[in-house]
Parts: sequence; structure tokens; C-alpha cells
Amino acid sequence: MIIARIGRMPIDDIARMGVSQWIRSLLYYEHRQRNALIPKREELERRSEGVSSDAVIKDKKYRGGLVIDPKEGIHFDVVVMDFASLYPSIIKVRNISYETVRCSHEECKKNTIPQTNHWACTKRNGLTAIIIGSLRDLRVTYYKSLSKKETLTEEQRQQYTVVSQALKVILNASYGVMGAEIFPLYFLPAAEATTAIGRFTILETIKKCEAIGIEVLYGDTDSLFIKKPTDEQIHTVIEQAKKEHGVDLEIDKVYRYCVLSNRKKNYLGVTKAGTVDVKGLTGKKSHTPPFIRKLFYELLDVLSKVQTVADFERAKKDITDKIAICAKKVETKEIPLQDLTFNVMISKAPSEYVKTVPQHIRAAKLLESIREVKKGDKISYVKILNKPGVKPVEMAKKEEIDSKKYMEFMESTLDQITSSMDLDFQTMLGKPKQTGLDEFFWS
Ligand SMILES: [Zn+2]
Repeated sequence: MIIARIGRMPIDDIARMGVSQWIRSLLYYEHRQRNALIPKREELERRSEGVSSDAVIKDKKYRGGLVIDPKEGIHFDVVVMDFASLYPSIIKVRNISYETVRCSHEECKKNTIPQTNHWACTKRNGLTAIIIGSLRDLRVTYYKSLSKKETLTEEQRQQYTVVSQALKVILNASYGVMGAEIFPLYFLPAAEATTAIGRFTILETIKKCEAIGIEVLYGDTDSLFIKKPTDEQIHTVIEQAKKEHGVDLEIDKVYRYCVLSNRKKNYLGVTKAGTVDVKGLTGKKSHTPPFIRKLFYELLDVLSKVQTVADFERAKKDITDKIAICAKKVETKEIPLQDLTFNVMISKAPSEYVKTVPQHIRAAKLLESIREVKKGDKISYVKILNKPGVKPVEMAKKEEIDSKKYMEFMESTLDQITSSMDLDFQTMLGKPKQTGLDEFFWS
């Protein structure tokens, strides 16, 4: 209902169309309200032909957010700061819209967009900038605070939370649609301008941090990891972001400690309260065999208790031992069958799968020989050595378990924790480290 109201669209259209069409509907409505002509695709295309700023990168048409190299290792007292809805803020503050980026006024060309050959209009407000800017302001200054206001009833707070979340969905998609060809108001320079200003904003903020003595450990698109900042330093950086870039920088999280690996987008952090955040965590997935899930949580528990560097070294040893013990049990087939199961619900009857047959369906087909299997049933299966590689747990024996497959699965799941801690799976199991051909050749 809320999305239908924001998008100016009947609820049946909302339900069968995606976010880019909601935004289209909202923008078209605002054009008509103003008696403004909606531009044709070709008209917009003509204005953006051959003016793209950046070379094509991989499969993307324009450059995205900035990710800076993480400073590898364990860091204590890390504050994570992030820009509140960075891209919508930029669209609003820098007047980004299809008609304002590369506008026709000669005098506006001075209002350049950093790192691009684009400029933004200084004479008129862009429609996208007005609408996205207003929705952003409504969310940040009104609905977000109402959703937390203690004098309201739980029901009212929930209602405002829903409004705030609906706005968030639309805001998050707002810059992406400008760079998506399916969008009728597609205008690549506007999308490029938005991300370019985003990269500029975070870079300038990093410079400011360093200038006032804050060590920046890592940065990704709209967030910054900084080490042991004082309240005053934080205040200075927030003020600067507001004054020079018109964006709101906020404290997102405070980690007791944080472990950064040399890979981007791969870290773990433990909050003051002892909650462990693992970037890209998948250990929770319900289809993970119980023994791996249990081990995963035991490892997080070890990490959550670390208070000092010495603790961390002990934790590394603890983790290594736990993994080695578990791996040994897998090898010697000591893990009970129930703890080895993958549990997957089947969404179609087994007979409906004809082309590709997923593993759980293979197991379900075997199960059909002893009982009926319907769509919606939960299939518990284990991985076995012989074909077809899987078997329903009811029919399997311990001896036929494929230990190697389980070791691989264990390694890939636990890698999320161990990779950032500089622990190597093979070494932990007391095996020689695997040497890649490259390494062999060059060492
Ligand atoms: Zn202009």
C-alpha cells in the first residue's frame, strides 16, 4: 500500500512490476503535474552519445563505488562510519537529473563534476533531484525518527518503520535506474556523475581523517573503518562532510576489534557486546550440515571472547584445534549421520524435474522407493562415495559417507572466518600447504 502511494500506481501494477517501473511511474506523474514534456528515449540518447567519462569496466557501463585496500591484521577499537543514503544525498545536493547533467547553458559548464567531463545545472532544479531529495529528507528527518519515537505505540512505530523501509527501497534504486538501459529515462551521465561524486566524497573524507590524525583502515563505497578516533576527531570529520559535501556521516558501529584480510570485502568484526559480524556470512544457511554449523558457531564464540592481542593469538590456536579435531572426526567417520545431513525442502514433485536434477531431488527419487514424496516435503540427505553421490539419510550407512566432499564443504564454509585471520585450512590439518603452479614457478 505504501509503495503504491509513493509510486502513484495501482496496487496490482505494483505487485507485478519492479522497482524501476515504480520510479518511472512516480517521475511521469510529477512531469504531468508540472505540465512538463516527458523526453523520448532518442532525445536523451542524443545528449549522452559519446560523452561517457570512463572506459568500460568488465561488464559494467560505468564505475561504481570506491573500495580502498584494507590494512591487514587485527585492530582494536574500530569505529565504522557511514554516509546516510549517500547516493540520494548526492542526487539532491549536486542537482543530478537527466535534464540537469550536461544541461544546455554555457555558464553551467563551470559547475564540473569531479573526475568526469560532466557538469550540473546551476539555474534550474532537476526533477529527479527534487523528488529523490524530498523522499530522502522525508525518510531521514521524519519517518526514521518516528519509527523510533518512544511516546508512540508499538503499532504506530511499526507503521512508520514500514514507510521508512518502502522509501529506502525506492531511494536505493534511484541512482541505479538512471544507468539501466531498461529505464525509459536512462541517462548514463547522471549515473556516472552520482558515483563519481560518491568516490570523491569518500576520498576527501579519508584525506580529512588523515589530516587530523585518524588512521583509516578500510573503506567501501559509503563506509569507513577508522582506528581509535577521539570524540572530537569524529565530530570534526562529521562537520566537514556536512559543510563541504552536504552529506550526513554517522557512526554505524563500534567494534571492540576487527580483523581485516588482504582481500577486499572480507572481514570480521566483534562489537563491544560480543556480537560477531562476518562479512558475507553464509554459515547460518539452514541447509548447512549441523556439524559444520555447530563448529561455525563455536568458532564465533571463541572470537567473541577476545579482548587483547594475546587473547587473539590464543583464539587462533583454539580455532585451529577445533577445526583439526572436527576434520579428524570427518575422516574417521565418527560424526553421526544426523549431523551430516543437508536439509532441503522440495518445491516440486520429484517427477517434475526432467532437464537438470539437483542433488536433493536425486535423494528424493531414491526415497520414493521406500515412501511417498510430495512437494513441500523436507529431504534430509547425505553425500556418499558411490553414484549418484547422495542418499536419503534414512537409507545411508556411515561407511559410505564421502568424507572428502564434507571436508571441502567444511573448508569453504569456514573460510569466511579463517581467511581473514590468515589461517590456512590445509596447514591447520597438519598437511603441507598446497603450492600453486605460479608460486612453484616463481619461488
Ligand atoms: Zn544549466
